[in-house]
Amino acid sequence: MKFEVGQVIKMKKAHPCGANEWEITRVGADFKLVCRGCGREVMLPRTAVERGYRGDINN
Ligand SMILES: [Zn+2]
Repeated sequence: MKFEVGQVIKMKKAHPCGANEWEITRVGADFKLVCRGCGREVMLPRTAVERGYRGDINN
């Protein structure tokens, strides 16, 4: 699976704010994802992103 900065993805778990659209702002061993519902930023290991990934969101 290829991930890149600017890609917007859906994850297995929605954010507590209710949104499930995440913009990737950093890739590497750890990813940074920004919730498009509330703007909160989270860091996740790449393995967690790969496991939770549920598809792309086309903007
Ligand atoms: Zn959120």
